[in-house]
Amino acid sequence: MRQETTATETVTALEEEPLKPDEGIALYDTLLASLSEMGEGVVVVENRRITYANEALCAMTGISATEMKSWPNYIQLFHPDERDRIMRNHLRRLTGEQFEAHYESALIHQDGQRVEIEMAAARLQAGARIGVIVAFRNIDERKAVEAQLKRYTQELERSNKALDEFAYIASHDLKEPLRGIHNYTSFLQEDYAAKLDDQGRYYLERMHRLAERLTTLIDRLLRYSRLGSTALTITPVNMNSLVDEVVEDLLPSLKERQIEIRRPHTLSTIPCDEIWIGELIQNLITNAAKYNDKPEKWIEIGYSAEHGRQVFYVRDNGIGIPLQHQDTIFRIFKRLHEQEKFGGGTGAGLTIARKIVHRHGGNIWVESTEGEGSTFYFTFWEDSHATQT
Ligand code: ADP
Repeated sequence: MRQETTATETVTALEEEPLKPDEGIALYDTLLASLSEMGEGVVVVENRRITYANEALCAMTGISATEMKSWPNYIQLFHPDERDRIMRNHLRRLTGEQFEAHYESALIHQDGQRVEIEMAAARLQAGARIGVIVAFRNIDERKAVEAQLKRYTQELERSNKALDEFAYIASHDLKEPLRGIHNYTSFLQEDYAAKLDDQGRYYLERMHRLAERLTTLIDRLLRYSRLGSTALTITPVNMNSLVDEVVEDLLPSLKERQIEIRRPHTLSTIPCDEIWIGELIQNLITNAAKYNDKPEKWIEIGYSAEHGRQVFYVRDNGIGIPLQHQDTIFRIFKRLHEQEKFGGGTGAGLTIARKIVHRHGGNIWVESTEGEGSTFYFTFWEDSHATQT
């Protein structure tokens, strides 16, 4: 029977056979050449002098290998800002000290430009000869993208802040004349109601109510904008105790509506702003209590750990939210019901809730079935760019 030789067996057989000296050198040359083709620059340094530099490195710096080899010190390859650090690391590596072999630095191009690189260095020893081999990867493009991203993020933060300031100033200034309108309708009601007919009194009553509603909306807008412009106070917060406190505060209205509170899990401690997260939980529980028309109502507050992230939730067996509205409910002043239904509201609670969660680097979303109930989920610190201050 013919013996088939598999590729693995061939490779293993080749690996076991010791390399002859010439083959060793050839293999070494091939390795360096293929690194060069991949665009990785390589130098070998002995006694601080460059004894080998591949083509990729020459292309990266615009300097020929012959010129590099003529330098008294290979440190000339690096940008002046980087030289002290590189020299220190070089000496540490030569003494055999073990430390991070992979880090970012910068070379200097012949034309004086900085060339951002990622480098990996290793100590080489053959008998009494000791050297260092260093591989470089050009990361100019990545650095440029990172810098651009940073600029966009800063720009976005600036414009969000400007928007918050605008909302704050606008709503603050709107309150003044509104207070006047509110007061004058009150005077009219108190002093002139008798002189008006039913229709007139009805119009006055409507005007008074609308002024009150506008005041509430502006207050919510102020609260929303303040959330964007104030620094968070981050401390470790025991979520269990925080939920206890919120439930305690809401107890009278929860009892009145005969709502059972379920707490299947012990919640963990999270670094967050206690006041704002308290407001978030309060908003979600208040909604869960409000939007429920079942004879036996319950609200469950818990958490689940999925894909290594902690997800908190507030669940109810209430009226549910139609699929097409599950995103729009987070928009400011968006309500799905007539003004007076379900105890009224401004439609700002979930917008504020979302902003609180975003400021904590997290996400908030809802899963809901109409007529059966809703679950609002939220997370913390998923986004490393979150602004903690
Ligand atoms: P508000 O409650 O003041 O109207 P929110 O921003 O808190 O404002 O909520 C927006 C809308 O989302 C509500 O008007 C309601 O239609 C819907 N909603 C919020 N929470 C729930 C819930 N738990 N169950 C059903 N609908 C909800």
